[in-house]
Amino acid sequence: MTAAAGRLAVVGLGPGAESLVTPEAAAALADAGALYGYGPYLDRVPARPGQRKIASDNREERSRAEAALTAAAAGGRVALVSGGDPGVFAMAAAVCEAVEAGPAAFRQVDIVVVPGITAMLAVAARVGAPLGHDFCAINLSDNLKPWELVEARLDAAAGAGFVIALYNPVSRARPWQLGAAFERLRRLLPADTPVVFGRAVSRADERIEIVRLAEAGAGRADMATLVVVGSAETRLVERPGLTPLVYTPRSAGGRTR
Ligand code: SAH
Repeated sequence: MTAAAGRLAVVGLGPGAESLVTPEAAAALADAGALYGYGPYLDRVPARPGQRKIASDNREERSRAEAALTAAAAGGRVALVSGGDPGVFAMAAAVCEAVEAGPAAFRQVDIVVVPGITAMLAVAARVGAPLGHDFCAINLSDNLKPWELVEARLDAAAGAGFVIALYNPVSRARPWQLGAAFERLRRLLPADTPVVFGRAVSRADERIEIVRLAEAGAGRADMATLVVVGSAETRLVERPGLTPLVYTPRSAGGRTR
């Protein structure tokens, strides 16, 4: 028998607002003896007496996952936090990678993934229903994959009529990729395709912008922005005195039921 392994909860904090943290996530956070995560995400979690917070840098996902697994394998009750949903371009996959490659003790840890509201859902909800028909999500970061693969996926997704949610559109180290993505998409989609820039949604500094693809530029986005690029079917409905609705009809290819 090995010593009793502990538990690792991989917890999604949602897009920012406390009201968008699920009760299950709040319970998992309250239950933990140690919290691991990227500093700004840990700052969102109210401090509790007797609970330790171990902050790490943004780019240290794998070593953070290993540290949390090591603490849990030693019997701890550990929570590892992610923004949004932990399974969307976030810590849950880093934990699975660490378990697959790591020591046998990691496989004994009781791992629970607690879902959260991912950024594309929070952004979509602000403007109407841009994800009302088929859509996909692409991480625009080329840290873990070659840029050529991003380009091929952009072409395939736009060519197949998917609405595209772009996570990680820009960073200081990746200033040009979003502009290059818009250039490609302009070749495949109508100039008036709606594009939504949703920044820091549900936080104090939230900003939503809706522009036509023809006017979409990388300068409108930063690291806290999620970009939704419509399909050829996505429409903008003007409403006097109110913000427009952006939506993608549920039907396509001639079906209207
Ligand atoms: N796991 C997270 C995504 C991590 S990748 C989730 O499910 O939301 C980080 C990217 O998510 C950011 O670059 C941005 O594109 C997006 N993002 C996260 N929080 C956001 C928010 N509150 N508003 C807009 N975009 C957000």
